[in-house]
Order: sequence, then structure tokens, then C-alpha cells
Amino acid sequence: MNNSMTGWHLFRCLFAMVIAFCVVTSAAAINRAGDIDYDINVRIDPAAHSMEGRSVITVKNATELRLILGRRFEVTQALIEGKPLEPSSDTSPHYHSWHIPFSLSTSYRIEIHWRGELSPLDTALDHQQTLGRPVAVSSDEGTYLPNSSSWYPSIVGALVHYRVNLELPSGQRGLVAGRLIKETESTQGYQASFEFPFPAEGIDLMAGPYRIETDTMQGANGKQIQLRTYFHPEISQLAPGYLDSVKGYVELYESWIGDYPFTEFSVVSSPTPTGFGMPTLTYLGVDVLRLPFIRATSLGHEVLHNWWGNGVYPDYRKGNWSEGLTTFMADYAYTERESSAAAREMRLGWLRDFAALAPDQDAPLSSFTSRTHAATKIVGYNKAAMLFFMLRDQLGEEMFDRAIQAFWTMRRFKITSWQDIQRIFEMVSTQDLNSVFNQWLDRAGAPAIRIVEASQRQTQAGHQIALTLEQATPVYQLQVPIVIRSAAGEETRHLALQHEQQTFTLDLKHQPLEVVLDPDLRLFRQLAPGEAPPILREVMVNQATATILLPEQGEIYHLAETLASKLQHRTPEIIPAANQLPAIPILVIGLRQQIDAWLIEHNLPARPDIVADKGSAQAWTLTRVDGITLAVVSAQDAASLAALIRPLPHYGRQSYIVFEGAKVIDRGAWPMQVQTVTVKR
Ligand SMILES: [Zn+2]
Repeated sequence: MNNSMTGWHLFRCLFAMVIAFCVVTSAAAINRAGDIDYDINVRIDPAAHSMEGRSVITVKNATELRLILGRRFEVTQALIEGKPLEPSSDTSPHYHSWHIPFSLSTSYRIEIHWRGELSPLDTALDHQQTLGRPVAVSSDEGTYLPNSSSWYPSIVGALVHYRVNLELPSGQRGLVAGRLIKETESTQGYQASFEFPFPAEGIDLMAGPYRIETDTMQGANGKQIQLRTYFHPEISQLAPGYLDSVKGYVELYESWIGDYPFTEFSVVSSPTPTGFGMPTLTYLGVDVLRLPFIRATSLGHEVLHNWWGNGVYPDYRKGNWSEGLTTFMADYAYTERESSAAAREMRLGWLRDFAALAPDQDAPLSSFTSRTHAATKIVGYNKAAMLFFMLRDQLGEEMFDRAIQAFWTMRRFKITSWQDIQRIFEMVSTQDLNSVFNQWLDRAGAPAIRIVEASQRQTQAGHQIALTLEQATPVYQLQVPIVIRSAAGEETRHLALQHEQQTFTLDLKHQPLEVVLDPDLRLFRQLAPGEAPPILREVMVNQATATILLPEQGEIYHLAETLASKLQHRTPEIIPAANQLPAIPILVIGLRQQIDAWLIEHNLPARPDIVADKGSAQAWTLTRVDGITLAVVSAQDAASLAALIRPLPHYGRQSYIVFEGAKVIDRGAWPMQVQTVTVKR
């Protein structure tokens, strides 16, 4: 990425915060509740924020059931087998609720009629807020009835089949997940019927002033797949590009995993900046769809969720594996295709983000269910993706892909746990993977590994190296990649580390000079101190960071203070500039001469050459001799300092950055210091 793309990068940062990690909408816990069918008719008037519905629920082979509908709706009729169905006595503030005792019959028909007001759409909400609001909203710009808003009567905890017939006023179009079986449009309005013939976790409904574009493709098993975009008019020109990309992703994953499970896929635009993946569709914000990189990244992730998440369901009680596997086979796979250097950079980002977690933010992978904040993403998405990466390293790509294909064949539309995945990988590979899965799923944290020493001696055949590795407790079972350097080049060996300390003896052809521990970052592990180059965010997010402001007073002091609070997302802990530096991370902000003098006064490395004579402002990290990181922000005057307040907080992943005004003219990360040990003779 070159420097002229500053604005682009900023959007991407913003995007990473809100939706790069999509959410697969789903019920929290699911039990099979016999054979259940919903036949729903719903009429929505977005301008009037109102809806009216009728649902016929057919239940076969049932056990005791609870039926609920959102309290905001008025129930106009409730019948069971044609007789009035009385609400249950428990009064919930959120739901109408009916208990249906299993003794009644083994098969019956329930009919509910309801109507009510929908909340007006609030386009000011971001993705997080939309996630936190199980509210049915409707306006001319868009209607979104999430399953969690209980907009239709549903049986608690059940997987169901459904048909939905949807009626909207003229000019509006809408959909639910599933196969489109009928669609009509006239001056009277729009009508469409959908059928979802597989066990579904719930129903989300979307509508808007959409223009629909259609394309078809032939799936791997010969069936027709309907591709559609439901786009707001202002982005309708993007439709052909999106349809093309969807086609490419379906082809990719059909050849990699197995046939696409549905007969359609739609990309649907939302007036709010959401990012949802549902079976047969993805619901993405209009402004998100406009971003040029979405087609190359997030769209593929969403398409893949039709296999992982909406094709095979995670067993949420035992942890959600679907985000990790989707991240590995989409986001990570695309990066790997770009280059192995880019893939390593992504793994480094994962490890570094993990290292920056506060101890109380880390949790075992098995406890991850869905993403609620950035910290759970670091475990639930990244650590899980790295588990699949390590598994592929262990089994080899061919075996890994065969296991993935077997997984798809055996678990399609079934609720599936991490343990089910383990069993399938064991069956295909005929390896015992118990310790691998247990150590990565049930423990928080990561192994900390170091090379204790390396020595060599000459043998008749060549050379022999004795290499001692150490890991912190609790010990992990690891295949540690070690690179051995000699005058003739490099070779990689994998050492089976199983104890706290172990010495390995290896025969070599050439005299070893240096050994390097996992330079390619193929293990999920704690980075050693100094191994990862310090980045600005380490200082920004650390709750222990203290701030030193070198301007003494006036406007420039207040600008520095504002910048410090924006960088840290909190009121900065300001300490006097003259003090002895405490042993905690420090953010220091000042004018150019003040910064240079302060660095000399505290015996710290001078301004690095790469930022020395460039731009109107610079920021960089440095590591003190005691290993503690500092972030330095230097500006030539008040205006240059003020110009940093908006952009600088978005560049936490950089080690250094140079601005001319608010424009980035150079940036980068300091090189990694991999663990290298000289071999003793
Ligand atoms: Zn996802």
C-alpha cells in the first residue's frame, strides 16, 4: 500500500473496528424440538412504521414447547387446533408467551395473528449499536426485522422449516433467507414468497427501496444458483461487480470444500453500517459496500459462512469454531495467495494483538461464542484461525483439505462442536489429535518458548548440534520450527517439544553457526520481549501508560492534551516532565526542539533517521534498555500538532509515521528481532 492511499487506509481501520469481523446471526442455544413448520404472511408499511402478520405453525412429534412473540405487538388471534390458545401466566416484560404441554397431542396446528408498530430506523447507529439492539426497525430507507426482535411467533430453542410471504408497498422490495419461489410486482405493491427447507435457527427480514439485479450460475452438482443484489439506487452501479465476485467465491469454495448448500445467494444493502452473514445472503451497509476492498475480502468471508456457520451450525454451548475456520479459509487464505510475506505479517498481527491483551481479557477458545468486543475477536477469530493453520502444518495441506471435505459431507446442517471437528480430523488423518485440540481450546494463554543454548561438535559424518529448548508451564505439545544457519544456507527442522526443558541432538551436513526459533511465526505463542517491534498501539492501549506533555501552557498544551486523550481513549495520566522516568510505558508529546532536548536529557536514543528530516510532525516508538516502550510525538508547531488529532489514533499498528499536515507521507514497522542464538563450538 503506498502513501497516497491514506484516506483508503483510514477507512479500512474504521472498517476493521466495526465490521471486518462479521457476525453470523443465530440463536444462542438450540434444541431439536420435533418437526416444526412456520407458514408466515407478513405485510409491512415502512412509511407508517407498521406491520401485520399471520402465522400457521405446524408441530409434529413435539415435546413440551414455549411459543413467544415480542411484547410490542398486539395479538389479535391465537388458536390451537381451532380453539383459543390462552397465554401462559408468566408475565415477561419482553414477550407474549404460550406454554404448550406435550400431553396435548403429538401433532397440532397453531395459528397466531398479530400487528404492531415498528421503530423508525435510526441511521446514526453503528454496527455495535445495531448488534446490541434487538429492535425491529422500519422506514422508507430500510426495514430490518432481526430474529432477536421476536417479530414473529417462534418456538424457543427450535430449528424450524419456514415459508414467508412478504407484502410491501410499491417501490419497496424485500427478502428473508431462503429460496425465492414467487415474486410479483404491480402498482398495488410488491409480493415475494420464500421457502427455507433446511433446519433454520431463525428468520431475519430485510426490505428497502431496492433495485434488484440477477445472475445465475451452475453449481458444482449441476444445480442452478440464483445470484442477486438488493441495492439502494445510489449504489446500483456496483451490482455487476458484486455478482461477478460472488460467482468467483462460490466456485472457489465449491472446489475446495464441496457443493454450495443453497440455491441462491444475495448481497443486500443496509442503510446502517452493519455487517451480517445469514444463510443465502449477506446484509452490508451501503457505505461499506462502496469501499473498494470489500469485494476482495469481507464478501468472500460472508459467502464462506454459507458453509461454516449457516451450513454447519456451531454448538454454542461448547464454543464457536465457525469464525476461526471462516477467517482461516477466507481472510487468511486470500492474504496467503497474495504472498507468504503478507501471510506472515497477518500472523504477526494476530500474535501482537494477543500479546497486547490484558490478562483478564484472555479466555479459553472454547468459551468464545460470538463477538461482542474487540478482545473476543483476538481469541475467537484469530487464535482459532491459527489453530487451523497449525493443524494444516501438522497434517499437510492435502490431508487437511480432505478432512475439511469430510467435515462438510458429514456435518451439513447439523449442530457441530469442536469435538466433532476433532473426531473427523482424527478419522481422516488416523492421528490422535486429543492433546492438540485440548491445549488450544481449553487453556487461556499461549506457550512461551526460548532457546536456552546451542552447541555443536564435529562427527565422522559431518556435524552434530545439541539444542536445548525451554517452555513455561503448563507445558504444551509442540512441533517447534527451528532454522539452522550455516555457511551453506539454512535448513528448517521441527522439534517435538513436550517438556519444560528438552535437549535435541541433530546430525547436520554443514557446520551450524546460528539457530533461530520459529522465525516464520508458525506457532501461536507469546512473543519474547523485543521479538516484535514496538508499535504505537502498545503504548496507546496500555492502561498503565503515563503521559508527559512538554509544552508548558496555553493553546499548544491543550492540543497536546487532547491528542493524548484521543490516542488513549481515556483521560491521560499526566506526569511532570522533569521527573525521573518511571518504569511504565510513556507517551511523550512536544514540539520538535523540546522532544530532541528531552531525549538527550533522559539518555534515550535520538530521533531515528527515517523520520528525522521529513514532514511537519512525526511519531515513533522506542524501547528503553529495561525493555519498556515509549511513544514519541513531535510536531513543528501548534497547527501541525492539531492536524494529528484526527488521523494519528488510526495508525496504532505502525512503529513510526510521518505527517505533512494531516496527510501521511511515510510509515512502517521496525523490523522483527527473531530469537537467534549463536552456536557454541
Ligand atoms: Zn464471520
